[in-house]
Amino acid sequence: MKSKVASFSVDHTTLDRGFYLRSSYTALGFYPIRSYDMRFRAPREKQYLSPEAIHTIEHLMAHYLRERLGNKVISFAPMGCKTGFYVVVKGWTSQRKVMEAVLEVCRTQSNLKTKEDIPGLTEVQCGNPEFYNIEESNAALKEYGDLLEKLLK
Ligand SMILES: [Zn+2]
Repeated sequence: MKSKVASFSVDHTTLDRGFYLRSSYTALGFYPIRSYDMRFRAPREKQYLSPEAIHTIEHLMAHYLRERLGNKVISFAPMGCKTGFYVVVKGWTSQRKVMEAVLEVCRTQSNLKTKEDIPGLTEVQCGNPEFYNIEESNAALKEYGDLLEKLLK
């Protein structure tokens, strides 16, 4: 079935790992809201992130991106296809600034040792706090950080 959703108009057979502006909106006619595609894996390679690693990265990014970008982060959400995440940012923040913030989180959070290093992973704050994978999250963040560093040069 055909659909006009913005992300469905991207050809995923040629999509590379990267950081892409996926859609841009304005609220009240002037206030920018941008959705970025953080593509950790190229779909054609079929090397998907594990759901446990995705959940771990979701907690890390949700917490630490807000430490860096404050309330400009509207949401951080995993893609159901397990190849990346969406981050939605409001206000006049450049793509480069968002990428630098993501890079910083990749660099500072890819050496985790225990569950206690993951923010919000408690019975009260999360729907499934035993569902995580530190090793895979460390590896995926390191790999994505390397890519962002290249893209930012
Ligand atoms: Zn959770």
